[in-house]
Amino acid sequence: MTQDPGRAAAPPAVPRRSDGSSPMIEIKVDFERCDANGTCAALMPDVFRIGEDGRLRQLVSEVDDGRENELDEAILCCPVGAISRS
Ligand code: SF4
Repeated sequence: MTQDPGRAAAPPAVPRRSDGSSPMIEIKVDFERCDANGTCAALMPDVFRIGEDGRLRQLVSEVDDGRENELDEAILCCPVGAISRS
């Protein structure tokens, strides 16, 4: 199919995994910044946990993009800005 050069191309479709499920969002934690206050662990306990040693554990490196709002809330609520996403 040829494309009309005078028209803007539609953005590429968001890639889907082969099983048809949603793409994933990568989560990164700057452990040098983290003060282990546990806010993110309270918001997303399946992703973050404070260990018995009082330090943060990141349990998974990515979440389904259906959880984007949840992750963004955790990012915004981190008082030291230690959480980021791709
Ligand atoms: S909210 Fe931020 S500072 Fe608190 S435990 Fe999570 S990453 Fe660390």
